[in-house]
Amino acid sequence: MPIPRIPAWQLTLAGGAAAVLVLHLVGGDHAWLIMQAAGTAILFRAARRHRCGWWLFFAASAAGTATSLWWSIRGGEPAITPMGLSLALQYTLHAAAAVQFTRRRKPGGAAEAGAVVLAVAMLAWSFVVLPYLGQPGYRLVDDALAAFYALLDLAILATVLRTAADSRRVPGILVAGAGSMLLGAHLLYAATSAEGTRPFLSGGGPHLLIQLWWVLIVAASVHPRAAQPLATDLAPGRSTLAVMYTVAVAGPLLPAVAAPSAVVVVPAVLTAALCGLLLLRIVVLARLAERRARQAREALQEQQVLQRRLAYRAGHDSLTGLANRDLLLDHLGRAVAGDRPYALILCALDGFKEINDTYGHHVGDTVLRQVAGRLLLFAPEVELVARLGGDEFGFLVTSGTDAGELADRVVTAVSAAPYAVDERRIPLTARAGLADGTPGNDAVLGDADLALRAAKQAGGARTARFDESLRAEQSERARIAAGLRQALADGTLFMHYQPVVDTGTGRATGVEALMRWRRDGELVPPGVFIPVAEQTGLIGAIGARALRLACAQAAAWHREHGLYLTVNVSTHQLRDPGFTATVLETLADTGLPAAALVLEITESVLIDAADTPVLGELRAHGIRIAIDDFGTGYSSLAYLHALPVDILKIDQSFIRRHQDPPRAQDVSLTRAILELARGQDLLAVAEGVETAGQAQLLRDLGCPLVQGYHFGRPADADTIDTLMREYAFHAPV
Ligand code: C2E
Ligand code: MG
Ligand code: MG
Repeated sequence: MPIPRIPAWQLTLAGGAAAVLVLHLVGGDHAWLIMQAAGTAILFRAARRHRCGWWLFFAASAAGTATSLWWSIRGGEPAITPMGLSLALQYTLHAAAAVQFTRRRKPGGAAEAGAVVLAVAMLAWSFVVLPYLGQPGYRLVDDALAAFYALLDLAILATVLRTAADSRRVPGILVAGAGSMLLGAHLLYAATSAEGTRPFLSGGGPHLLIQLWWVLIVAASVHPRAAQPLATDLAPGRSTLAVMYTVAVAGPLLPAVAAPSAVVVVPAVLTAALCGLLLLRIVVLARLAERRARQAREALQEQQVLQRRLAYRAGHDSLTGLANRDLLLDHLGRAVAGDRPYALILCALDGFKEINDTYGHHVGDTVLRQVAGRLLLFAPEVELVARLGGDEFGFLVTSGTDAGELADRVVTAVSAAPYAVDERRIPLTARAGLADGTPGNDAVLGDADLALRAAKQAGGARTARFDESLRAEQSERARIAAGLRQALADGTLFMHYQPVVDTGTGRATGVEALMRWRRDGELVPPGVFIPVAEQTGLIGAIGARALRLACAQAAAWHREHGLYLTVNVSTHQLRDPGFTATVLETLADTGLPAAALVLEITESVLIDAADTPVLGELRAHGIRIAIDDFGTGYSSLAYLHALPVDILKIDQSFIRRHQDPPRAQDVSLTRAILELARGQDLLAVAEGVETAGQAQLLRDLGCPLVQGYHFGRPADADTIDTLMREYAFHAPV
């Protein structure tokens, strides 16, 4: 069974009191001295740890010990005056310490204490000072010393009353007890009408009380709350009030009780009434002050609640209730400044803009709220889930969770099931990028952003982790963007053309314009610079330049050879409301008829484009639309009949499968696509035809148009021009 731990102050109190009592009975000067010295040492420790009051108690103890030492060396019974003088020091220092110890900083505190002291003065004058002066033991003590002792008694009495009335702090009670011991020693001496100084030496009653003073003071000094002796209420408590009233009212009446004559009674009653009223006034003021303080506290609390609410609003997204970007940055800043590893996951929804555009913001908002609900399920594993704006969310991971695995789970959770809004069920997928942060690395947000972009670009994987190569790619992209801006000015962007061949006649019926960019003497593939142009918004200007160059060139070919021109356009261009006007203006300027122009849109972007009215406008002007790279994107066959298109370009990956001899399942797949195109009344073009075998197969399958290295590589306008003029472009079979 565990032994309960007894607090040091209780041990000191019990042990000290027992030792004092035993010594009192047994006697022994040296033992007293050792105890006093030990007490003084403990008080020295307390004085160093706590505050000024404890230095004074230490000094009182040291003075008392020095006195005992002095009288024990001298031996015999000391004379009254020197004894009185030597004790006065300990007594004075205790009074000073107790006053300091019980001092409370509060309004009206001094007046309150003053009222008590004055009332007590009346009591003390009647019962302490007058009897002292009349005592035979004091016959030899001069009046000054007696009066000084009386004052000290008064001060000590005031501190005893004050601390005793506040019974909530043990050290205060112990100090009050110690003060009572000193007072008791004096009163006992006076009450017993003792003569000489013997009672102040070992074995005497006052001596015993003075030793108990040591025990109580030392016990108070080792109490854990020795530094805060009193509670700090503003208004006096009930017990304090009772003591104060009794003393203030009864004190002035005492002389009247002792000598009941009209000369004494009338002023005594008036003084008592005055004291009572003054005290009442003080108490009312204190209560008022306390009420004001309480009101101020309540107002402060309300303000704090309001502040907390405002801070919550400032740190949270009003739509989803998730933390917002500011709060995430705030937490991120702390993680960066900390010393633990952390990770940031950014998660973006695929195609959310289309949901907003198609169904309206009401539906978009509902979907976002539902997404937030799913993301919040991960809150216990992360420090913060935030919405950074739009369709982008962030997770700050500081708990040591495997961030890569968490990012995968987040992405899976977002796309696990469609979102039900009204009667609709809307499917959604997401991508995530994550960056590991080390303390001091404040680029982690940018890193996670790069990783997210990488995840968006890489078709397959849906989460990407940041590594240094991404930063290199980022600076390469910045270099390309700067180069493209320059290219728009210096004409290093130009067009190559690849023939589109009719399988029936073997002749070129059209040309596809493919953009080329020569940077520092080397050709940069469109697969590299077109995505950068799209990301930076440069595609608008670059696409318009390509269209103009191609139309200007193809106008002549159309006039002479009846060729049509097919030009690739980006989804970004289609979203520009002025795009139709740009195309029509270009046609008008270059003289190419609308019927001779085909605009190619990559299949994967068609879902976006399907919602835009631009395709309908263009077709209304006679321009045809082709789906490029059919079969690579995610638009299902079900969309096909709804799309405003005329031509279907089968992606090269289907054609590349046809090696010699062709496999039956590849052939049937191509045949199925061709039948689908015929069924939808679409003109089919097979891309990437590289061999005679592939060309033959496509002819056999009834594919009307073909394009590929087998018929002609993309080449500059002059080369195509020469081919058309000299051979009327008859493609090899
Ligand atoms: P795309 O529109 O599908 O163009 C066909 C790509 O296949 C061209 O690559 C062409 O050179 C290549 N090609 C043609 N025949 C064969 C073949 O038999 N075998 C193989 N392996 N490849 C063949 P290129 O010129 O590198 O263009 C790549 C993509 O860049 C284009 O694919 C198109 O999506 C885009 N692009 C090109 N020019 C423009 C443009 O002016 N504007 C826009 N927005 N995109 C363009
Ligand atoms: Mg194309
Ligand atoms: Mg293509």
